[in-house]
Amino acid sequence: MLIVMNSDAEQGEIEGVVRAVESLGCRAHVMSGASRTAVGVTGNEEAIDSGPFATLPGVAEAIRVTKPFKLTSLDARPEPTIVDVGGAKIGGGSLAIIAGPCAVESHEQAFAVAEAVQRSGAQFFRGGAFKPRTSPYSFAGLGEEGLKILAEVREKFGLRMVTEALDESTVDLVEKYADMIQIGSRNMQNFTLLRRAGRSHLPVLLKRGMAATLEEWLLAAEYVMSEGNYQIVLCERGVRTFSQHARNTLDLAAIPAMRRISHLPLIIDAAHGTGHNYMVGPLARAGVAAGADGVMIEVHPRPESALSDGEQTLTLEEYERLVQQLRTIHAAIA
Ligand code: PEP
Ligand code: MN
Repeated sequence: MLIVMNSDAEQGEIEGVVRAVESLGCRAHVMSGASRTAVGVTGNEEAIDSGPFATLPGVAEAIRVTKPFKLTSLDARPEPTIVDVGGAKIGGGSLAIIAGPCAVESHEQAFAVAEAVQRSGAQFFRGGAFKPRTSPYSFAGLGEEGLKILAEVREKFGLRMVTEALDESTVDLVEKYADMIQIGSRNMQNFTLLRRAGRSHLPVLLKRGMAATLEEWLLAAEYVMSEGNYQIVLCERGVRTFSQHARNTLDLAAIPAMRRISHLPLIIDAAHGTGHNYMVGPLARAGVAAGADGVMIEVHPRPESALSDGEQTLTLEEYERLVQQLRTIHAAIA
């Protein structure tokens, strides 16, 4: 159920609704927006009678939610969510550039990339310390050492750190050193991880599962939100198809499709979405043109010797040129 408050509802009236929801043993999620506040209800096993809620002071209407996703939907919040990552914003009309190496490999490598990322005017640095690799014999990241390097990069360059957590214990570590928890494709339906991220004070970057429908993806976001963390950015990173010319098929149609159903910001990862250096620019440009709130880009001083994902990684020069183009496109469609 969704309880929509009058646009001039007072704080005390919102609190009254929260108490009424909690008295039923359910959880109340206060979704405040510029035009109005709504209170989402979760935790009920059966439908709740909306009648008594509709007559509470300050309530405009109490609606039964028939869609499988509740808190992520535009019904819960008609205006776009803006996610705050250590004071920098994603969503709401700005263009977020999240760039960095696939994996943090060394102090020197991370600092070289961070310098270019900062110079480009981007605010977010990505780098994996815990890498989910297809083969157990591949480089799996530096672990906590990698996070410590990220913390140094943050200190020196003032960039916000985005890094992947693989399980509940790595969320604890990411919380210690970084600004945003990335949940990767392979873990999009790792429900204990999603719930743990939902109890974090850090925002979450939720990548689309390799074969996930938009509904499954939003339900994964609901796991995070239902625990009380509403700060989620979705990341389209391509899905598996019969196509052989690219590692994945970047689903650009997901951008307008998601906009129609959810208030969450959505960014595009053209690196994992294509798997090829020469495809990253065209698809990232297309993503921005299609209305994405940002892009994720893999960058390395020497992609040919990167310990992971070198084939889809840009050089520092390629990266800087691309960012200029993305800004031009973004300005043109604003
Ligand atoms: C990554 O961002 O480095 C990554 C592993 O991505 P994905 O989860 O999309 O495969
Ligand atoms: Mn990668």
